[in-house]
Amino acid sequence: MKKETGKYTKQLTDLLNKSVNIAMVCHNNPDGDAIGSMLGLYRYLQQYGKSPAMISPSQIQEFLLWMKNIDSIIVIENNPGQAVKSIREADLIIMLDFNHIDRSGKLKTHIQSSKAKKILLDHHPNPEIDVDLLISEPEFSSTAELVFSIVRDLEGEYYLDYDFMSSIFVGMMTDTGNFSFGTFNGDTLRDVAVMLDNGLDKDSIVTNVYDNFSINRLRLQGFATYERMVYLEEHHAAFIYLSRADLDRFKYKVGDTEGFVNIPLTAKGIILSALFIERENHIKVSLRSKGDFDVNLFARKYFNGGGHFNASGGKYKGTMEECLAYFEKVLDSLNDHKA
Ligand code: 5GP
Ligand code: MN
Repeated sequence: MKKETGKYTKQLTDLLNKSVNIAMVCHNNPDGDAIGSMLGLYRYLQQYGKSPAMISPSQIQEFLLWMKNIDSIIVIENNPGQAVKSIREADLIIMLDFNHIDRSGKLKTHIQSSKAKKILLDHHPNPEIDVDLLISEPEFSSTAELVFSIVRDLEGEYYLDYDFMSSIFVGMMTDTGNFSFGTFNGDTLRDVAVMLDNGLDKDSIVTNVYDNFSINRLRLQGFATYERMVYLEEHHAAFIYLSRADLDRFKYKVGDTEGFVNIPLTAKGIILSALFIERENHIKVSLRSKGDFDVNLFARKYFNGGGHFNASGGKYKGTMEECLAYFEKVLDSLNDHKA
């Protein structure tokens, strides 16, 4: 199916042209797509004559720190005054890569109390968010691909600024697991082809994103797979759990567990994988599936979260032990493999 975003151009242009102070906001624990789509749109809006602020509700992962303009992102923990001021002064807030206001973490109340016009730009299904312009397109592989398409509509042709392309490519590549899963199609790859034809250095981007692990991170991955993976054969499932002490042992840095949830799915026959990480006052849950197991529904129903059909996340309030027992109980209660 051809992906079209031209229907948004007029309203988007009106909102952009009427705004003086734009604030862009991504989701908590931002991933490659949240950051890539935000930096890409930032680059474009700069050339459009705007000076948007970029705000993240939490720290940016190590593997993204090489990206152009990353230092311009205001992280609320590092600079709460500046983050709140940017939202308070904004007359337009653009939210990227999330579909529920809770995903904006510490920025939530500030966004909610702002009188600014609001735009949501996202590819998650079932958006539940109050905005003036809802650009919600679950057919897109990534919010980055959506930004690429929208900017092409605004320009009337491909927009091929190098830093723009590089940011967009990071979002597309990470959200599709190197173009292996999720909702990417011919249109996605045609966009990539155009970027490659116009000088995008994919090798350096791949190296920057994926060949940048610390030795501690590699060891943590080995430990997680060997010591902390539980195989639930009868459910065609496996999960990995990591306590705070486990993370400390390997000098955990933000982002070090990124991708761990995909590891169990590489074993033959596994259709459901979960990753449980102990955080300060909850257990962070990540879920991935293959085929027709809907983990978006599963996360919504059992872990107060959501996401996509085959990739979702949520939270559990309680101890790790309770969380793991609860997860197994839920699986036991499902007599087939659909939530
Ligand atoms: P991850 O497991 O990588 O943190 O997240 C996978 C997917 O689930 C992403 O699309 C993300 O937006 C979504 N997700 C993760 N955590 C939550 C959550 O707590 N609530 C909701 N609604 N979505 C989440
Ligand atoms: Mn995304």
